[in-house]
Amino acid sequence: NIRDVYNFNAGPSALPLAVLEKAQQELVDFRGTGMSIMELSHRSPAYEEVHNQAIARLKSLYSIPENYEVLFLQGGASLQFSMIPMNFLQPEKKAGYVMTGVWSEKAFAEAKLFGEPYHVASTKESNYHIIPRMDELQYYERDAYLHLTSNNTIYGTQWKDFPDTGDVPLIADMSSDIMSKPIDVSKFAMIYAGAQKNLGPSGVTVVIIRKDILEKANPNIPTMLKYSTHAKSNSLYHTPPTFGIYMLGEVLSWIEESGGLEAIAKQNEEKAKLIYDAIDNSNGFYLGHADIESRSLMNITFRLADEELEKKFLMEAKSAGFVGLNGHRSVGGCRASTYNAVPLEACKALSEFMKQFQKKNG
Ligand code: PMP
Repeated sequence: NIRDVYNFNAGPSALPLAVLEKAQQELVDFRGTGMSIMELSHRSPAYEEVHNQAIARLKSLYSIPENYEVLFLQGGASLQFSMIPMNFLQPEKKAGYVMTGVWSEKAFAEAKLFGEPYHVASTKESNYHIIPRMDELQYYERDAYLHLTSNNTIYGTQWKDFPDTGDVPLIADMSSDIMSKPIDVSKFAMIYAGAQKNLGPSGVTVVIIRKDILEKANPNIPTMLKYSTHAKSNSLYHTPPTFGIYMLGEVLSWIEESGGLEAIAKQNEEKAKLIYDAIDNSNGFYLGHADIESRSLMNITFRLADEELEKKFLMEAKSAGFVGLNGHRSVGGCRASTYNAVPLEACKALSEFMKQFQKKNG
């Protein structure tokens, strides 16, 4: 680890070192253009190649069917919370929201401005420590869409499989587990994610959207907030975040070189297991927040017996080079985010550190 830290930040978060080094090497003179990628026109052939390659890599890694568009937008996943109902929810129409955390709540609050969203299921009562079972999802066949959050960054829970919603378009916020494993994209009408966890730097939002729902969207909304505007122009309606898209393309290329999503998924399982094992074998010294069946492979949340001990743990971890282990400000405790680019060695080191800390303080 040449950078001397173990980065467990929740987002923005670790990027593959190889990608950073390549970007550094290409930064001043991008592939013989005599300019940085940031200084190129977004209409130049050199940039367009980067742009189209990033889209092509996303399509290939996720085996995205022909009837989908891949878009690069701005405004983060948070703007999607508004754009989704603005495009697809009419007054007096219903949309189901599965409530599995604060990000679901934020998405729900925006939908209320446009139509009649309702809770399909909620695990708020148990502080969102679990994902609802499939048979708990009660929704209407005529809903505008069904929305869920595939990975709950703050609580450390993750959907293991997804409902078949038939004619109801299924929309998923995959901000914190996009591209962490293979998925069947055809189950979804739309997938969206801010790039800053598994895909690259902040500033780019990836949207994967089925073409038929574009045609059903509300036409009377601002141009920039219509998915169709961006779909029609290959996400070049206006100036896109070119550097971010370049980085995203390089991260995708790194995923390909790492063996694709099957290999990445296997690594992610192995990484998370190291830390969950340290929790499970601690005789209650470490207490996991998530129900075992709902555990996330991306965000591992846990507490220690009391706040004093927790403070000590976090302080000593910090001195030992572990970054980003504080839980989200809304829940406290500890959280290790083990996104794609976090190396196995970092997870081994954390698991070892946890065992040693327990030995000294247990
Ligand atoms: N959804 C989820 C699941 C998230 O984890 C986050 C950010 N941590 C957001 C949405 C908000 O994303 P952004 O900051 O890109 O708006």
